[in-house]
Amino acid sequence: MQTVSSLLNKEWYERYKRIASLNIRSSIYDVTNRCNLRCKGCFFFSSGEHEAAREEMDIKKWENFIDREKARGVNLAILIGGEPTLCMDRVEAFYTRLPSYCATNGLIKIDRAKFPDLMVGISLWGGGEDEKILRGRDTFAISSKNYEGDTCTYYLYTITPRQVGKIEPVIKRIADVGLKVHLQLLSNDEGVDGFSWGKEELADLRREMDEVLDKYPRTVISSKYYHEVITTGKMMGRAFGWPECPSVTESLDTRKPQPRRLIHFVRWASDLQTVHRCCTSATRDCSTCKDGAAHMSWIMVNKREHIRTTRDLQNWIEVYEMFAKLYRFIPW
Ligand code: SF4
Ligand code: SF4
Repeated sequence: MQTVSSLLNKEWYERYKRIASLNIRSSIYDVTNRCNLRCKGCFFFSSGEHEAAREEMDIKKWENFIDREKARGVNLAILIGGEPTLCMDRVEAFYTRLPSYCATNGLIKIDRAKFPDLMVGISLWGGGEDEKILRGRDTFAISSKNYEGDTCTYYLYTITPRQVGKIEPVIKRIADVGLKVHLQLLSNDEGVDGFSWGKEELADLRREMDEVLDKYPRTVISSKYYHEVITTGKMMGRAFGWPECPSVTESLDTRKPQPRRLIHFVRWASDLQTVHRCCTSATRDCSTCKDGAAHMSWIMVNKREHIRTTRDLQNWIEVYEMFAKLYRFIPW
């Protein structure tokens, strides 16, 4: 039988040990139902999640709730919305209690004097023209000024089919402002014309993602195995989708048999009582889901399957390291 130590040399074993002890327990929080943009294809609005619950306005209730989450074992709070920076008192309540990550469109600058090491992920939906079509404005022009050179910030670049063949200039723009970038793929939840994926486009995109990773290794936080899994939807011969998804809210997870999943994962609505089905759209057809975090987590929870060959296990380690970097558990 293969074991971790039999498959890895000393250097890789050290890398393995560094992440194996992290024991990350994440949950996701809708900080608010409001946003200062309305992007076409935003899963939050397109699935009606902004109307699923009434936003809790009492900051004391948020503080007590976060304390309970901490007691429940959560050690990574992923703040989404809506736009969390519209409610900085709530962001602060998380930040002062738990390791936190704030997803934002970057239009509002987070005060680094108050939040020196809050991990910030800025959403980006392509080059300026695509952003204007999908989001109504070129957000990069503003967010890059707000966060230039910030060591705790990266772009979460959602690649659309229209971007295939054109991602390098976007990566270069990000490198030029001294920021990092992580790549994921658009799930076209609102069926915008020309923004759904074809098989060949995905194969081309995989090659392109590999190329930018090779060319910008200090800027792109990614791994080739992640590119393979997210573009093919396959891992170890298994297909991603509802029966396999690891990012389903624990109390709503009635799947049988139960797949490997994120332990005690919950996605909370902003009333602090309602929960959503999963880490992304409640109405998305899982067979079309390209959610990057769900694919990463899928790999991470299936460690045992990767203790097969040295390359398989190294692939698993690289994906885990990528996740740990993106949420500030290990340095870039
Ligand atoms: S900025 Fe984010 S939350 Fe706001 S509409 Fe766009 S995708 Fe949705
Ligand atoms: S939409 Fe995606 S993240 Fe949500 S349950 Fe389906 S596969 Fe999982």
